[in-house]
Amino acid sequence: MKTIMLICDGMADRPMPELGNRTPLELAKKPNMDELARRGICGLMDTIAPGVPPGSDTAHLALLGYDPQEVYTGRGPFEAAGAGIDLRAGDIALRANFATVDDKLIVKDRRAGRIQDTGQLAAAIGRIKLPGVRVIFKSTVGHRAALVLRGRGLSHEVTDSDPHELGSKVLQIKPLSREAAKTARLLNELSRRAHQVLKAHPANLERAKGGMLPANYLLLRGAGVIPHLEPLHERFKLRGACIAAAALVKGVCRMAGMTIVDVPGATGGLDTNLNAKCDATLRALESNELALLHVKGFDEASHDGNAAAKVQFIERVDDMLGSLVGAADFITIAVDHTTPVGVREHTGDPVPVLIAGPGVRADDVRAYDERSCARGGLGRIRGKDLLPTLADLMGKGRKFGA
Ligand SMILES: [Zn+2]
Repeated sequence: MKTIMLICDGMADRPMPELGNRTPLELAKKPNMDELARRGICGLMDTIAPGVPPGSDTAHLALLGYDPQEVYTGRGPFEAAGAGIDLRAGDIALRANFATVDDKLIVKDRRAGRIQDTGQLAAAIGRIKLPGVRVIFKSTVGHRAALVLRGRGLSHEVTDSDPHELGSKVLQIKPLSREAAKTARLLNELSRRAHQVLKAHPANLERAKGGMLPANYLLLRGAGVIPHLEPLHERFKLRGACIAAAALVKGVCRMAGMTIVDVPGATGGLDTNLNAKCDATLRALESNELALLHVKGFDEASHDGNAAAKVQFIERVDDMLGSLVGAADFITIAVDHTTPVGVREHTGDPVPVLIAGPGVRADDVRAYDERSCARGGLGRIRGKDLLPTLADLMGKGRKFGA
């Protein structure tokens, strides 16, 4: 039995007065999603818990059947795994942003003018030496990067240097426990040295000449240690593949033991190459039981406050879905969190979910959207319940008791 799990990042929304009190999903023409809703079983899902806005990392942990409250220490390890860094026990990983600061270390741009190519800058950071620890640094997409410190006696219990807003000074990293004092000291030292290296780097001098913002500071956040995740192929006897562009999602899937499929032209945004992702999903099904296809343009449109772009992207994804129907025994459509266009941030509203395939108790729901799915046979589940439910339908349930 094979399953396609389509995860629509941030697709769920709230009713909008300017859309006639409908949500973008209710307004969009999406015949394939609606047909699957008719054939399948639908419901609402609290990815983490009712009223808790999920992060993309904790949401995906839950969608792969883990309890995020139990295994999550910070986003850093998932970013690092997504960047292709092989983490070891004891490593401390952080998410890093290439940013622009002025002489007084006031943040002028958290993304360094949306810098694209950071390869040379990242290599220069990777050459910084700190006493007693190894610095591993890798850039991913755009201004994003991951930092890993490898050595003895490190702790993830430190604060961020990222002030999370423009016009604020970068923060001193502080230890949150006595054991973390050394780590905080090392990270502050690294931040200082990275600033020096970046300020003087030819690539930045070149940017300044072209009137572009220099990427002269690393904003650090989300320190964490690698969690132990029982791999999907052990827990559910499922071989899984991940088709995603976002490093954070790839990282979660990689740590869950899934194969990561790199897709040319997949950007994690509205301009992503959906055809290439669709083809990669079909290929992945040849050697895997579970193909997780992650699409993120909805979230970008929502963060931009653009309802029209969101509706249009839903229709494009529905079109792509047409090529996937019939390619696997089961299709499940899930959303990792609600990102209302009117709020531009993740919120805690539950998301619609459906499972279509042999043996499901099809219900009366005729459309895949936030309000229709509320009447479905799955009722209201938690994110971590989805994969066990699916695995059981696929004949891979784990019996509890005699
Ligand atoms: Zn997300």
